[in-house]
Amino acid sequence: MFVMVDCATITVTVAKVLHLLNFMYNHKNKSQMGKVKNEIQKLRDTCYRKYQEGGVTAVIDYIEEAMRQGEDLIILNVKYERCEACDSDMPSINHECLICGQETKLHKQILVDAVIEDLKKGFAVGD
Ligand SMILES: [Zn+2]
Repeated sequence: MFVMVDCATITVTVAKVLHLLNFMYNHKNKSQMGKVKNEIQKLRDTCYRKYQEGGVTAVIDYIEEAMRQGEDLIILNVKYERCEACDSDMPSINHECLICGQETKLHKQILVDAVIEDLKKGFAVGD
């Protein structure tokens, strides 16, 4: 009986510690998320400015240079993805084109979409 009470006490203590750790982790994560959002916005603004100055080439030059330096964590999240609005592969962040702000797609996603289109056509013809 004594042992069982003891176990329960430990369980409660552990649960409390876990709750506290979770709280601390979430709190830390949230403030980091806020920072990341700011950094992304800054990158968007810079790209927009570059675009005004020298068009798509200026933006890509800027991104390429930043990638070469490779120190900025935000730049690590920049990926070349297919932008249908630009009709080209463009640097994007979180699937958002850094040139025009439209949604970009992974090449994998384009393939999946193409397969789905094909399937739809197949069904339309078959029926
Ligand atoms: Zn675009």
